[in-house]
Amino acid sequence: MGTADIVIDPVRIAAIRRELTANGKKKKAPRFRSLAQHESTICDCLKCPLGSTRTNFVYGVGNPGANLLFIGEAPGREEDLQGYPFVGRAGQLLDKILAAIQFSREDVYIANILKCRPPGNRDPQPDEMQMCMPYLLEQVRIIRPKIICALGRISAQALMQTTTPLGKLRRKWHNYHGIPFFVTYHPAALLRFPAYKRDVWEDMQMLRAKYDELARE
Ligand code: SF4
Repeated sequence: MGTADIVIDPVRIAAIRRELTANGKKKKAPRFRSLAQHESTICDCLKCPLGSTRTNFVYGVGNPGANLLFIGEAPGREEDLQGYPFVGRAGQLLDKILAAIQFSREDVYIANILKCRPPGNRDPQPDEMQMCMPYLLEQVRIIRPKIICALGRISAQALMQTTTPLGKLRRKWHNYHGIPFFVTYHPAALLRFPAYKRDVWEDMQMLRAKYDELARE
């Protein structure tokens, strides 16, 4: 992954936020009753060039009524081949991370900002994320999670519209459209830098504690 900062047109993001606002007066994008209906409507998307190079559209996986939504950046090679997010080595590690805080994939929902694989697993481009972001926002609207956890720098920075380094976004709770928002390392980063495992373990303890706290309310 490169280290270039992510800059997304703030005007476009403001428009997307208006689409999320339940009582907004502006013209809204079509709304969907279910994830399945949404996926079947957008799965042939060719809005950006990644649509013509993908093997499979990778919408998301998990419990459509989950209280916890994980958001990564984009499908990798295995995800592109199989059509599901986080199914390669990073996905297996994510399963272990979830198990460590007593969750399985059936308890949570997992999606990416991009639904199609960038060639060679390069970083998503700002314009690609800008075009694909409305799909993710519709997923958030349908799922209505109580907590969102961004996996990795690219997802965190794109969703928060910031260039703040990941290390400074961790260990604190943010707010994303009124939803508690948390940030941790991408499992692929753990595969490259095992020293991050302790940090992720601490992050997951915070995440689980917040989840339990919200469940009691
Ligand atoms: S990455 Fe998103 S915007 Fe681009 S073609 Fe795929 S679904 Fe469409």
